[in-house]
Amino acid sequence: MSDTAKDRGRTGDGTRAVRAGLPEPVKHEPTLPGPVFAAHFHLPGEVTGPYSYGRDDNPTWTLLERAIGELEAPGRDDVETLVFASGMAAISAVLFSQLRAGDVVVLPSDGYQVLPLVRTQLEAYGVEVRTAPTGGDAQLEVLDGARLLWIESPSNPGLDVCDIRRLVAAAHAQGALVAVDNTLATPLGQHPLELGADFSVASGTKQLTGHGDVLLGYVAGRDTETMAAVRRWRKIVGAISGPMEAWLAHRSLATLQLRVERQNATALALAEALKQRPEVSGLRYPGLPDDPSHRTASQQMRRYGCVVSFTLPTGARAERFLEALRLVEDATSFGGVRSTAERRRRWGGDAVPEGFIRMSVGAEDPEDLIADVLRALDESGSSAE
Ligand SMILES: *Cc1c(COP(=O)(O)O)cnc(C)c1O
Repeated sequence: MSDTAKDRGRTGDGTRAVRAGLPEPVKHEPTLPGPVFAAHFHLPGEVTGPYSYGRDDNPTWTLLERAIGELEAPGRDDVETLVFASGMAAISAVLFSQLRAGDVVVLPSDGYQVLPLVRTQLEAYGVEVRTAPTGGDAQLEVLDGARLLWIESPSNPGLDVCDIRRLVAAAHAQGALVAVDNTLATPLGQHPLELGADFSVASGTKQLTGHGDVLLGYVAGRDTETMAAVRRWRKIVGAISGPMEAWLAHRSLATLQLRVERQNATALALAEALKQRPEVSGLRYPGLPDDPSHRTASQQMRRYGCVVSFTLPTGARAERFLEALRLVEDATSFGGVRSTAERRRRWGGDAVPEGFIRMSVGAEDPEDLIADVLRALDESGSSAE
């Protein structure tokens, strides 16, 4: 059994997911070697790689990095992937390794809720931060002179989409780098590097690992020099994944295609059902044919994700709805096999209405889940608004 990156690039997503990153079979060894717990490795004499000290590298990361690379850029062997302790560790690694005082960076104004904190830190280091919404490719309007463009498409939690190829072309024309947050799409839903981006960055905490029990992040990129800076940042900051988390993540990748297929199909079915409800407004799912994001999404995405967002008439109604749900936990984050939903305004950050719900569709039977949601909508509407 031996295959090349190119061979693996030709297989379907399910086949690729179950085999991603596995080493060549060795008699009497497990298919996926267990986590290597080591702060340091035997290192007699001259210092040579690959494994010397546990903050620099670890064999369990190596296999996971190979796996994620195969999923992010099927069939290519010029992509380097680095795993981190969390999505924010990965995001910060790109931003803080690539930007210097005096540089301009363009962030989305409707992106992940920790980005405003990152903005404050970047500004403290003398980086000029500009923001614009994801929808309508509005980041193009503030791109002039930027060193780095940060894209989040689909955006979390608003589910707007921008034309990644178009933004990349504009950024590259003026010498700017482009990073895409691929968390919501997952590497099975979107291939940012193929769309021209310099970095695909994601939180593996969400659908990539999918069980709500691991924090993880990664950066995938093609350019050796920029990736060397990202690697150096990981070493300096030490925002590294524990071997156990890395191994759990790799184990979870084997079911990625199954989970994504089921969760995304149910998300579409749920969105179709919610469309019929008079108390639901602002319904968003990029896979809905009449969603404002659908046209662009269909040109660059292969799957549309497991998150559906919508608004109920008031915050109180939204809270009653969440309480009435039996199969859906009121919890933040998304992408897990168990459905979750939350009223986003409770965090105070996102610019969304009081009754705005972000729902993450899990792997339950679609009929059960949709029935539970419709019943909770009925029950939560009974008391006077
Ligand atoms: C959750 C999330 C992050 C941060 O990831 P962590 O693993 O929680 O650090 C970044 N971007 C997006 C789009 C996310 O949803």
